Amino acid sequence: MTYFRPNIQALSAYIPGEQPSPETKVIKLNTNENPYPPSPKALQVLRNIDGELLRRYPHPMAETFRQAASQAFGVPPDWILVGNGSDEILTMIFRGFAEPGRKVVYPMPTYVLYRTLSQIQDAETIEIPYPEDYRLPVEELVKAGGSVTFVVSPNSPSGTQIPLDLLDTLAVRLSGVLVIDEAYVDFAETSALELVKKHDNVIVTRTLSKGYSLAGLRLGFAIAHPHLLSGLIKVKDSYNVDAISCLVGAAAIADSEYKNANAEKIKATRSRMAHQLQELGFKIWSSQANFLLVQPASTFPHNAESLYQNLKQQGILVRYFPQPRLNDKLRITVGTPEETEALISAIAKF
Ligand SMILES: *Cc1c(COP(=O)(O)O)cnc(C)c1O
Repeated sequence: MTYFRPNIQALSAYIPGEQPSPETKVIKLNTNENPYPPSPKALQVLRNIDGELLRRYPHPMAETFRQAASQAFGVPPDWILVGNGSDEILTMIFRGFAEPGRKVVYPMPTYVLYRTLSQIQDAETIEIPYPEDYRLPVEELVKAGGSVTFVVSPNSPSGTQIPLDLLDTLAVRLSGVLVIDEAYVDFAETSALELVKKHDNVIVTRTLSKGYSLAGLRLGFAIAHPHLLSGLIKVKDSYNVDAISCLVGAAAIADSEYKNANAEKIKATRSRMAHQLQELGFKIWSSQANFLLVQPASTFPHNAESLYQNLKQQGILVRYFPQPRLNDKLRITVGTPEETEALISAIAKF
């Protein structure tokens, strides 16, 4: 006997990466947070928050942030929809486009949350396997016939970026909506943002959690043609973004100089880390994100799972996915140069 809808009863809950309490001293390389602090300008705004701001309800569309994002990306404000993290934007997208009898399509392995959100809607979930080199399987994605199709670029956990021309082709050939999840775009060389102006079926999603060091703030947004956003606005909570996030986020998104400087540091550390792990015999996928997918050589004294356990015992958290295709690999966030050095020397000791 259960009180729940059958699909909710059957659902296995999404398991986020481990989040040890802030007092625990660990090198945390498991959930792709930025190792550098948020913009000082954003922190200054936070310190100056007035009680009156909190007494009132916030703006339903997070207008201050929307204006700042409009400035930062050169798109009109009504092409932007703000959410409580980009995870909430994804929830709105599933509510808006997915239901029983409609297909949700995405290439695998990718962001695991899509499966959970699809099952909540009781939609038909179609997972198309990526080839070993993570080239986008355009033909198979088109054939699957999704009402909505998701592509993460740069992808997690592979870090690989999808070439713009493939996303362009996909947008043209799909009859449904194409969502391009750009959570890691701040660490890449290019973006697919221009596709929202070219195609009325493309939604690009962004977050302040990774590039802007604000995972704790919970702020993300979608950029798309206003007619696509209009349906999403109907399914969102009335006051989905709190007044603090709206103001602090606006200051952060305006400070692209600070964000870019940190991204440059992370990219430099990323290439050193990739080089060092390769020298230790690891297979590395070419990453445009703030993490690396790595596979220990078969001659390495530990397989991926025991390496994960051993590093954890030494206070270094990395991400291990106990699922087909990933259970022989680890996803490791690019930290500060010091954190990366500690990781490399812990691995080299084996
Ligand atoms: C981190 C991440 C998100 C979630 O971002 P939030 O804004 O923190 O909710 C969305 N998509 C992908 C692929 C991510 O890695």
